[in-house]
Amino acid sequence: MNKAVFLDRDGVINREIGEYVFSEDKFVLNDDLIPALKLLQKNGFLLIIITNQGGIAKGLYAKDDVEKLHGQLLSRLSDKQITISEIYYCPHHSDIEKCLCRKPNSLMLEKAIARFDIDVNRSYMIGDNDRDIEAAANAHIKGIKIQPNTSILPVCNQIVKGTV
Ligand SMILES: [Mg+2]
Ligand SMILES: [Zn+2]
Repeated sequence: MNKAVFLDRDGVINREIGEYVFSEDKFVLNDDLIPALKLLQKNGFLLIIITNQGGIAKGLYAKDDVEKLHGQLLSRLSDKQITISEIYYCPHHSDIEKCLCRKPNSLMLEKAIARFDIDVNRSYMIGDNDRDIEAAANAHIKGIKIQPNTSILPVCNQIVKGTV
């Protein structure tokens, strides 16, 4: 089985700017992201991004915008020899329609766990919101909450040392 680190997107991968981010000009990587992801990858963790994109349900932007942005992210990271196994996003919003994927629900995590044969006992989720941590708990994964837009390198060091 594989171990993985699940990562929220806005506030963890890129700057949370208090509004929906769906274009590359507003997509700024957080400090230390590249060394942090490299450290996890070098230590055998799969990297999987799990993000709520309720702006789609609200009609503020389209799935195509999200997929284009994610394609750009994947290619920027792949230029640094970092592989993201998958980016799962929920296009729904609870104000518009209920779903099982929007965090704090855990369907996106469960899909990844099944597809990538992930051992939940050796895996973690890093998020900046309580609903990230709740989603992780619902999938029996240990959640680690950080302050939005802070470096994840310290927690990644703890993860690889097994001191979380
Ligand atoms: Mg977030
Ligand atoms: Zn959903």
